[in-house]
Amino acid sequence: MAERSDFVREITPPDQDYSQWYQDVVTKADLADYGPVKGFIVIKPAGYAIWENIQAGLDRRFKATGHVNAYFPLLIPESLLVKEADHVAGFTPEVAWVTHGGQETLSERLAIRPTSEVMVGEMYGKWVHSYRDLPILINQWNNVVRWEKVTRPFLRGTEFLWQEGHTAHASGEEAMEETLRMLSVYHEFLATELAIPSRMGRKSESEKFAGAEITYSVEAMMGDNRALQAGTSHYFANRFAQAYGISFLDQDGTEKAAFTTSWGMSTRVIGALIMVHGDARGLVLPPRVAPTQVVVVPIGANASAEVAEAARRLAKELSSGLRVHLDDRPEFTPGWKFNEWEMRGVPVRLELGPRDLAAGQVVAVRRDTGEKQPLPMAGLAGQVAALLERIQGDLLERATRRLAEHTHAVGDWAAALPILSERQGWVEAGWCGSEACEMQVKAQSGATLRNLPLEQSAPATCLVCGAKAQYMALWGRAY
Ligand SMILES: [Zn+2]
Repeated sequence: MAERSDFVREITPPDQDYSQWYQDVVTKADLADYGPVKGFIVIKPAGYAIWENIQAGLDRRFKATGHVNAYFPLLIPESLLVKEADHVAGFTPEVAWVTHGGQETLSERLAIRPTSEVMVGEMYGKWVHSYRDLPILINQWNNVVRWEKVTRPFLRGTEFLWQEGHTAHASGEEAMEETLRMLSVYHEFLATELAIPSRMGRKSESEKFAGAEITYSVEAMMGDNRALQAGTSHYFANRFAQAYGISFLDQDGTEKAAFTTSWGMSTRVIGALIMVHGDARGLVLPPRVAPTQVVVVPIGANASAEVAEAARRLAKELSSGLRVHLDDRPEFTPGWKFNEWEMRGVPVRLELGPRDLAAGQVVAVRRDTGEKQPLPMAGLAGQVAALLERIQGDLLERATRRLAEHTHAVGDWAAALPILSERQGWVEAGWCGSEACEMQVKAQSGATLRNLPLEQSAPATCLVCGAKAQYMALWGRAY
């Protein structure tokens, strides 16, 4: 049987090759596999179960803020796609086209949706006539295809799963409120469910969504200090409404164009989960989204019938309120099982041996810290639930501290350059607002302007040119 140390050696240490470590965790923790076409991955059951928990947490929040779910078609006629000039210019390079139906060449090419603003705009144009038809608050859970050159499981895929919210409103103020509300929903969701702190802010003109008036994002810091845009919320003003004819007769009797928004979060956040919390032993899952929260392992290669029975009883008892798995496979040693469940990121392991049974206790082991503690069997469910809550809170606290420690407020370029180019963290500094300065940062350090944080401290001078700054900006290398 495999020894403990042999098992762990299968994962490349993160400080040796972070990117290889990431790929190892994805495959060894059985989250995904590579499909036959480059950039298309299979999300395996262990990965999909995480996505289902993410979906449930987001969907609950969307419904609580007044949204309903619907589904729009996969294929977009080319003539529709070209109506919004900026949008088409931004997305055309990565569109996959359908040109044939069976043997027949189609009279018009059909785009596989890279996103659905166009399709939704066309339909809302048909549905909206009067101010009484507004607002429309619809979300859809779907897949999109973008022909990416460089792909990485979960982080950048040719096909990925996500949700896209699309709303239409009678006024710009209301649409802007919606845009910011959903940005806050993402921010709160990431912190509460995934234990991932993030910075909310506005994207620069060069980084905003193609066709948007304003794009906001939530940016999270990964274990290698790179930034990951974890969700976006776009305010379109009436750009899409004008292109797709979403207009309405207002209460004052005049015809007006509606104001629209869209917002999305994707399977990318599974990549964020891996990189924010994972360690040299593999995945570390926050209890709220962990498909298995507790694994019960009877101790002893040939655990006595008494221990086996007690472990079964325990697992059954706990599973009334928690997601529990009993690993009683006789063909593996406890050590092998410990490693496997550690690699898969299960938050708590409960070990039960003959001596524990005699003492009326189990040994609980935390995945995040490795800390062991005996817990009395009496009232175990409540204690394990409390331990899971503590782990959830500690993970967020650790990640929050890390984000703060690696965000550097520096005022001059000489100090910022090594931080950005050597990926020591993010830089928060003044920016004059010129694209020339933004491009200079990118050219010299490889970092991009992540966003202009919603909470702005008083900026002094531009990090690059030294002129009076207009904003405080967050800079960092990104995925
Ligand atoms: Zn400048």
